[in-house]
Amino acid sequence: MLKIHRAEDRPTKKASADMFTGDVFQDAVLVGEAPSRMRATNVTFNPGARTAWHQHPVGQTLWAVAGVGRVQVEGGAVQELRPGDTAIIPPNARHWHGAAPDRIFTHLAMSEIGEDGGGTEWFEKVSDADYS
Ligand code: MN
Repeated sequence: MLKIHRAEDRPTKKASADMFTGDVFQDAVLVGEAPSRMRATNVTFNPGARTAWHQHPVGQTLWAVAGVGRVQVEGGAVQELRPGDTAIIPPNARHWHGAAPDRIFTHLAMSEIGEDGGGTEWFEKVSDADYS
């Protein structure tokens, strides 16, 4: 049966300061019901805001919607993201994502939870040195 979640039933949430630096806002898109393991969230970062280091059991796909963003997988270069770009992060790869220092950034974040139900694993905050 068709199901529609109405926008007014799911207000924007402010992301936890434990896992993010700066002001970050989350709109739930999808929490898939089994057999789906899909999770999708539209995330908006204020300038300079970013996730902490973290990893996803089945990886993550980010689709840049607006503004200018940054993403880095540990050991690689910091990459810039612009609207229409898709970033594919491998399973269990430590990484972070967020806005550029002087621009807001919005991305659609899509991932699957693990077969055992495991979700995102969080680590330390991203230092200013790593961010820059
Ligand atoms: Mn991620």
